[in-house]
Amino acid sequence: MQKKKIKEILQGKVDDKVTAHGWVRTVRDQKTFTFIEINDGSTLKNLQVVMDGNVPNLATGASLIVHGHLVESPGKNQSVELRASEVHVIGTCDPAKYPLQKKRHSFEYLRTIAHLRPRTNTQGAVMRVRNALSFATHLFFQQRGFLYLQTPVITGSDCEGGGEMFRVSTLEKPTDDPSKDFFGKKTYLTVSGQLEAEIMACALSDVYTFGPTFRAENSNTSRHLAEFWMIEPEMAFADLKSDMKCAEEYLKFCVSYALEHCAEDLEFFDKFIEQGLLVRLQNVVDSPFAHIPYTEAIEILKKAPKTFEFPVNWGTDLQSEHERYLAEEYCKKPVILTDYPASIKAFYMRSNPDGKTVAAMDILVPKIGEIIGGSQREERLDVLEKKIEDFRLNKQDYWWYLELREYGSVPHAGFGLGFERLVLFVTGMENIRDAIAFPRFPGHAEF
Ligand code: ATP
Ligand code: MN
Repeated sequence: MQKKKIKEILQGKVDDKVTAHGWVRTVRDQKTFTFIEINDGSTLKNLQVVMDGNVPNLATGASLIVHGHLVESPGKNQSVELRASEVHVIGTCDPAKYPLQKKRHSFEYLRTIAHLRPRTNTQGAVMRVRNALSFATHLFFQQRGFLYLQTPVITGSDCEGGGEMFRVSTLEKPTDDPSKDFFGKKTYLTVSGQLEAEIMACALSDVYTFGPTFRAENSNTSRHLAEFWMIEPEMAFADLKSDMKCAEEYLKFCVSYALEHCAEDLEFFDKFIEQGLLVRLQNVVDSPFAHIPYTEAIEILKKAPKTFEFPVNWGTDLQSEHERYLAEEYCKKPVILTDYPASIKAFYMRSNPDGKTVAAMDILVPKIGEIIGGSQREERLDVLEKKIEDFRLNKQDYWWYLELREYGSVPHAGFGLGFERLVLFVTGMENIRDAIAFPRFPGHAEF
């Protein structure tokens, strides 16, 4: 017999014989009966177990196997409960010590007990939504014929990130001769799989990566992690317009997938984390994203009835306060900003005919700001060579990237989505450290 999860047991019929496995959430001892709520993470709901008398060592946190049959439940939260014939305590748990004995803990405290926090309602729900979103990601791209590829975690090019990269080394001292290092040169943890994805798109047409990326930026914000997961589609024979279309459809697909498959968890978030979440998410699905060119966005920000901490001028990079104003207050929905000044974007973004801006797009969403950054890539060899010089980069470092423009170059475009920011967007959670099981941020790598 296949082991049944609590989610499935709760959908069973009266008289079904079942065996349940899980961890005790609460125990109520009454004179003749004991009521136990158990949870196995398959659903937010607990399974109520009713047994005669009591069992030694039954306590919150203990793991159990329960045999019995289903009976109609008088409770309003579930239609069936488990009338136990046998209750086995598999692993005991000392109630005097168990940190989750108390019902409510701050998210900050829970981060310090990352080995136990998946047993809380909130973290369980986050993990189930995260799982659904990663499955939705594969569904979306696979349905459209994109190939899923893995790009290296260790990279020899420090092209994009500059000072934001973690060095990977087996040398005694970081100052030792890099030619004596493991790979014979300096290597780093990747900040993005984009350049490699471009190689693959220039042969396999449409591809996507979904893997870990690392940034050593010392940003102690609620939207940055030192290790995060990024989804990076790259499409050949594609321009900025099709890139934006793909990104909008992908975000909408993920949100509708979660609304359909994580209804119970999203209702929980709507009730306890962000009031109005379900309405906000339905709006994301139902209404087209706004579009504003960067130059126009600067005018809007200058006229905003609001003082920003950082002033805005044409040519400055937008801060998250600006991004949030545009999405949250001005558009009141996701907005795609396009055509940024070349000087604040990466060298590989395609130059626009005006000579000042590039074919870049960022998607900004309420509460978070930037969730996606993308662009059409520069496919013209001469323009790219000039860009590399203007950015004072070393041409030799990009020999293969330049050769792609020499041998059958093709217009192509792609974007990067920070997966944990998507989890925040869909759950309404406030801090990115609660959107991943084992967050890495400055000063924190315990688990
Ligand atoms: P930001 O300006 O918010 O720091 P960025 O412009 O540096 O982001 P990109 O290099 O464009 O980010 O990366 C693509 C996407 O990856 C971003 O849109 C964002 O969703 C996500 N992302 C970037 N940095 C982080 C980080 N440190 N932690 C989590 N997600 C991140
Ligand atoms: Mn960006």
